[in-house]
Amino acid sequence: MFIDCHCHLTSEQFQDDLEEVLARSRRAGVQGILTCSTSPSDMLHVVQLREEHPDDIYACLGIHPLDDSCDMRAWQTVREMIIAEHRKHGLAALGEIGLDFSRPLLKQKAAARGATEADVRNRQLSLFEAQLDLARELDLPVNVHSRNAEKEVLNILSGCKIQGVMHAYKGPAALALQAAKSGRLWFSFPPSLVYKWEYQEAVKALPLECLLLETDSPSLAAAGPKARNEPGFIRAAAEKMAELKGVTLQQVAAATTRNAVHLFGKASPGLQACCMTAPPSNPTGKTSRWRRDVKDNEGNVPTSDAPPAQTFAPQDRSSQRWTRRSRGAETHTMDPTLCSSAFGSARCS
Ligand SMILES: [Zn+2]
Repeated sequence: MFIDCHCHLTSEQFQDDLEEVLARSRRAGVQGILTCSTSPSDMLHVVQLREEHPDDIYACLGIHPLDDSCDMRAWQTVREMIIAEHRKHGLAALGEIGLDFSRPLLKQKAAARGATEADVRNRQLSLFEAQLDLARELDLPVNVHSRNAEKEVLNILSGCKIQGVMHAYKGPAALALQAAKSGRLWFSFPPSLVYKWEYQEAVKALPLECLLLETDSPSLAAAGPKARNEPGFIRAAAEKMAELKGVTLQQVAAATTRNAVHLFGKASPGLQACCMTAPPSNPTGKTSRWRRDVKDNEGNVPTSDAPPAQTFAPQDRSSQRWTRRSRGAETHTMDPTLCSSAFGSARCS
């Protein structure tokens, strides 16, 4: 069983065959798919997909650093939309948020806006920090993008008490290991792990209890940058991870599922149900040496070896499914008029 912790099922690449994509992912053992928004208009689409497929899809709402449609003024409206949706249906996380300081993109955006590259960076920083504030307020984890900005992102995250995942982390492995010792950060890797050495170095350095699986569909496929990826292909990432860690595929599936449920299951009962059938990632039941030896800033031992803080009350899975279906069947009431027609849709990469 797998949980895809980061993808974009709202991509136009899935508009013709989403049902088949979801059927294939179920057959591949994917029990939950976290789909992330990139822009205000994309948020509406994510909410709609989650309502149409409540057994498969879990929503992460946020604004991607490369989105051009949401500035700090528009953010106030977007913020209200996110709060309303979380109160109504529960979000898995805020995301995709973060920083992208890749030089060609900074240059391009600065030229388009008649601004400097520093202005573009500062705009990203303001929006990232505003979204982190909201995550703290809602007690939600974050699903984080970082490109050419890993150090800055990890510095910011280390200063706030927010849990989150660094998706498709491509920065230095030593930096990831240091950040993971806070006990609040996990690192997820997509099927392109099979050929990207930067991902492989980070996977080798990090303990299994800090790792998650994702697909970033439709991007980051094992078959190369031009191939369409989908959640059902997640096994390629899991097999490579197992090889790099010297463990079995079953151990990777169990550990990453348990980690995902712990991180994202707080407001998602359907995800917590996945944990009931996932064997513990640490069969001894003891706190691992790696976790036992580290403490957070307040001197507490990180708890990722412990069961999720809000364990779902024992009941049969069918009743949880019924609850989610009932909630999913509610009328979609997120007000599209809140989303200005000026909002476009940013592409995530
Ligand atoms: Zn993404």
